[in-house]
Amino acid sequence: MKTYDLVIRGGTLVTVNGIRRADVAVVDERIVAISPELSGGAQAVIDAYNLHIFPGVIDAHVHFNEPGRTFWEGIASGSSALAAGGATAFFDMPLNAHPPTIDAASFAEKLAAAEASSYVDFGLWGGLVPGNIEQLDELAERGVVGFKAFMSNSGIEDFQAVDDATLYQGMQRSAQLGRLVAVHAENDQLTAALAQEARTQGRVGVQDYLASRPVVAELEAIERAITFARETGCALHIVHVSSGRGVRLVASARAQGVDVSCETCPHYLVLTEEDMVELGALAKCAPPLRAVDEQAALWQHLFSGTLPMVSSDHSPAPFEMKERPDFFEAWGGISGCQSLLALLLTEGYHRRHMPLSLIAAATSEFVARRFQLPPYKGRLEVGADADFALIDLSATYQLQSHDLFYRHAHSPYVGRDFRGRVVRTLVRGRTVFLDGKIMGPPGGHFLQPFPLIPSLESI
Ligand SMILES: [Zn+2]
Repeated sequence: MKTYDLVIRGGTLVTVNGIRRADVAVVDERIVAISPELSGGAQAVIDAYNLHIFPGVIDAHVHFNEPGRTFWEGIASGSSALAAGGATAFFDMPLNAHPPTIDAASFAEKLAAAEASSYVDFGLWGGLVPGNIEQLDELAERGVVGFKAFMSNSGIEDFQAVDDATLYQGMQRSAQLGRLVAVHAENDQLTAALAQEARTQGRVGVQDYLASRPVVAELEAIERAITFARETGCALHIVHVSSGRGVRLVASARAQGVDVSCETCPHYLVLTEEDMVELGALAKCAPPLRAVDEQAALWQHLFSGTLPMVSSDHSPAPFEMKERPDFFEAWGGISGCQSLLALLLTEGYHRRHMPLSLIAAATSEFVARRFQLPPYKGRLEVGADADFALIDLSATYQLQSHDLFYRHAHSPYVGRDFRGRVVRTLVRGRTVFLDGKIMGPPGGHFLQPFPLIPSLESI
C-alpha cells in the first residue's frame, strides 16, 4: 500500500485541457498521482468534494517595493495577499524597490529579501534603464525573468524611462542573452506634453488626466516596441495593455512571426473611465482605465485567446499619497493582486461564462510557458509542483478592507460583490492560506527561467 504525504479527495480539477473530478496525491512537494479514486494511505487528507482545484496563480507583474520602500508594501504582506488570492508564485518588478533591480548588487538585495519573507514562490524582473546595458549580462546570469523598461516616465526618480537608443540596444543585448524584454508602452512625449498643457491651464481633474493619456499613446509605443523586436529578434512582452486595439497590434505582429506577447490586468477588465471618476486615485493607473468599448474588446480577445495572460500589476502605496487636489500629482497604482482570480471568476466565469480552463491558462499555464519556468510549474498534472488554489465557486461575499492583506488596506474592489472564494492555497503541497488566515512560516523558492526563452510557435 502506497503512502502519500497528502491526498486531496473529490475536487474538481481545472486544467487547460478541461475539467474533471479526481483525487490528487502529493509526495515530496510534487503531484504523483491523479485518478478518479486513489487507494493507499496518506499522512494528510483534504476533503475537496465541493471545491474546484485550480493551478496556483502565477502573477507575472507585482510591485512589492522591498527593499527600500517597504512602507508601501513589502514582500511578506504582498505575498500574503497573493496567497489569500490563490496565487502560488509572483514575479516582482525592478521598481519601486530601492535600489531598483538594475545590477548584480541590487538583485542580491532583492533576492535575499524575498527568500527571507515570501510565502509563495517567486521570480525577479531586472530593469532596463539608460546606462545599465552593461549590467544586463550579470542580471541574466543570476536568473531574472527578463528586463522591464518604461517607454514613458515611471514616476520614480531612480528608474528612468528608456530612450529609443537604450531600448533598441537593450533589446539587441537581451536577444543575445535569450531574455525577454517587457515594456510599459506609452508615448512619453505625447503624454507629457498633453499633461503639461492641461496643468498650465489649471485643468487637473480626473477627466483631464484621462485625456492626457489617450489610447493612441499606447498604440504608438506598442508599434515602436514591435518594430524593435522585429529588427533585433528580441522576445517582447507588452505589460498591462489597456485597449482592444493594443492587443490587436500585438496579435497581428505575432501572426507575422514577431515573438511578442501581452497581458492585461483585472482593472482594465472590470473598471472603466467612469469608475476612475467615481473612485478617484484608488483607481488611478497608467495607461488609464478606458471606455466600455475598449473593455468589451479586451474580453473578446481574452475569450478568443489573442489575449493570453492576465496579471495584477499590483502597485500599492500609502493612501495619503493619493490624496492630492491635483489628480496628476496623486500617486498612481492599483492594489489588486489579492483579487485577481476572484475578479476573473466573478466577472469572467459567472457573468460572461468564460470557461474555467481559459482562466487557468491565463493566470497560470501561459505565464509559466511564456516566461520559461521549469516544466513542473503552472500545470495540474503528474510530475508538476503541488501548487493549488482550492475554490468554492458558489460562495458569495462583499470584499471588506479588513479582508485585505496589503500593508495599506485599500483597493478599488472594496465593497464589491464577489462570487467564487479562495478557500485554501497550497504551495508545493504546503498550505499557505486557509479560511482567511496565512499559515507560516514563509518558505518561497526562487524560480529561474530556463536559459533560453521559447519561441511563440512552440508554446
Ligand atoms: Zn507595473
